[in-house]
Amino acid sequence: MNSQDILPFTRPDIDEDTIAGVAEVLRSGWITTGPWCAKFEQALSEYFGGRRVLAYSSGTVTMEVALKLLGIGPGDEVITTPLSWVATSNVILTVGATPVFVDIDPVTRNIDAGRIEAAITPRTRAILPVHLAGLPADLDAIHALAARHRLRVIEDAAQAIGSLWQGRLIGSFGDFASFSFHPNKNITSIEGGCLVLPEGADVDLARRLRLQGVQRSGLDGMDVDVVGGKSNLTDVAARVGWGQLQRVDEFNARRRVLAQAYFTAFDAIGLVARGVQLPPRDFIQSNWHMFQIVPPPQVQRAALMQALKDRGIITGVHYPPIHLFSLYRQRGLKPGDFPHAETVGASILTLPLFPSMRDSDVTRVAAALDAVLRQFGL
Ligand SMILES: *Cc1c(COP(=O)(O)O)cnc(C)c1O
Repeated sequence: MNSQDILPFTRPDIDEDTIAGVAEVLRSGWITTGPWCAKFEQALSEYFGGRRVLAYSSGTVTMEVALKLLGIGPGDEVITTPLSWVATSNVILTVGATPVFVDIDPVTRNIDAGRIEAAITPRTRAILPVHLAGLPADLDAIHALAARHRLRVIEDAAQAIGSLWQGRLIGSFGDFASFSFHPNKNITSIEGGCLVLPEGADVDLARRLRLQGVQRSGLDGMDVDVVGGKSNLTDVAARVGWGQLQRVDEFNARRRVLAQAYFTAFDAIGLVARGVQLPPRDFIQSNWHMFQIVPPPQVQRAALMQALKDRGIITGVHYPPIHLFSLYRQRGLKPGDFPHAETVGASILTLPLFPSMRDSDVTRVAAALDAVLRQFGL
């Protein structure tokens, strides 16, 4: 099979204007954090309805910064989902706090908001929901619980740029929201992320935490009052991110069209009747960061992935349940703790979905799935 025949599960779409823009930045004499980072932050702020936005080097560090701004650390608990990229809960450990998992709703695959209250203790400080695959978690329920129990909310919106909740853009309202611009996300800055800060947040501290805690004054003054780390975004990355942000609506519109085409094709081959769970049919709120299916348990996922790969179709696994990783088992978590996350995590499969994918690729994936599932007796 020649390499044009390989269909990846995602691929960034970087236009020529962005490539030329990057070359200009490289020739400009200033390639790390500078005017393009400021311009990218300004554009992000406008995108999120005028909220305060700071850019960082990843969507992991943005969540760390949010936790630090809230003073969350040893002795504190943060409630989150076990079905996410491990960064979501690793950041809680990084600041010395304890992640408290709440099982998912197997249909939405997001944290089951109805189970959160039972996990709240006097040590709980925040809820960290994830909008998995771009489908928003139940923010009404989460904000109501947070208000009732005086908790803060940090949305892990790494996958949710352009997603809506009740008609409002994720990140344009609420408390903290963290976005990632990793190449697999709906827009990329190669690596990078941004943090949307609520009114009253210590923006100055959020900036100092980005670069060694340094605060400058006048022409020659400098002080350091906090361990700041190093997580600034380069201007080269910011130029890529800015170019991508101009196209976020176009990208997401194309993703929604492709997702709809998947449903049409999958309905035609009766996937649901054959025991395959499809994602919720949400063509308004989700940005369709991923299209994930959950085949029935008798289908061995690795064998399914191999059979699709043999047909040139690359799939992904997002994600194994976090609480079953060694780091978390060492903390006392074990199989059986979060049954829905475990069942979904054991079978979930990410199909190809990215804006430059062709309509015919959708047909090709459906035909391949049809044939392969037949081989598996479905
Ligand atoms: C990508 C991702 C992150 C981390 O973002 P990075 O930019 O890779 O650090 C965190 N949470 C979720 C749900 C993600 O998908």
